[in-house]
Amino acid sequence: MYNKLLNIIYPQKCILCNKILDTSCDFACNICKKKLEYILCDSRIKVAKNHSFDFVFSSFYYRDFIRKILLDFKFHNKKYLYDFLSHRIIKFARNYLANNKIDCVTFVPISFLRYMERGYNQSELLAKKISRELSIPLIKFNLIKIKHNKRQSELNVLLRKSNTKGVYKVRNANTFKDKCLLLIDDIYTTGNTVEECSKVLKEAGAKCIIVMTVARKNNIL
Ligand SMILES: [Zn+2]
Repeated sequence: MYNKLLNIIYPQKCILCNKILDTSCDFACNICKKKLEYILCDSRIKVAKNHSFDFVFSSFYYRDFIRKILLDFKFHNKKYLYDFLSHRIIKFARNYLANNKIDCVTFVPISFLRYMERGYNQSELLAKKISRELSIPLIKFNLIKIKHNKRQSELNVLLRKSNTKGVYKVRNANTFKDKCLLLIDDIYTTGNTVEECSKVLKEAGAKCIIVMTVARKNNIL
């Protein structure tokens, strides 16, 4: 009764297009959901050969609709989108956990300067929700970014690799030693960012690293 009343006063809206939802929909309207289906990432998990991380999973391809949503999430202060954007990662991680172990969740850090400028780290918001839903501890501020580099999105493929070199550091290696980590980021493009993070995490003694991102630019690892 109370919920019904609440729904009349504050009707639930589609998180993506703001249309009022009928009660059968949870977070997005059926039209938006259809658009999302179209860009579901088909290669959900891959053994990451020649990489410091062990597996990578992405929920969507980075194009069309999801691209716009991620830009809103990252640059237009639409923090609340973390809830929707972590949805498929949580579902996948639950399946993964049926046969595998994850000791802790962590995320790709941003520099202090970027944090001050944006006011939040979008990957941290995702990781927080994922950790809470899976009841796996979140390790914050142990993997840190020590240099303020250029945005990866501003650089071409050749420059991206050198741009991420030496920018990440683990403060206390003991925290990650012999642990299976879930590393969260928003977008997987060339993989340089998660590769650099994974490299320092492995140097700190991490046993295995599973990377999960909301979107992936292409299908090549
Ligand atoms: Zn919608």
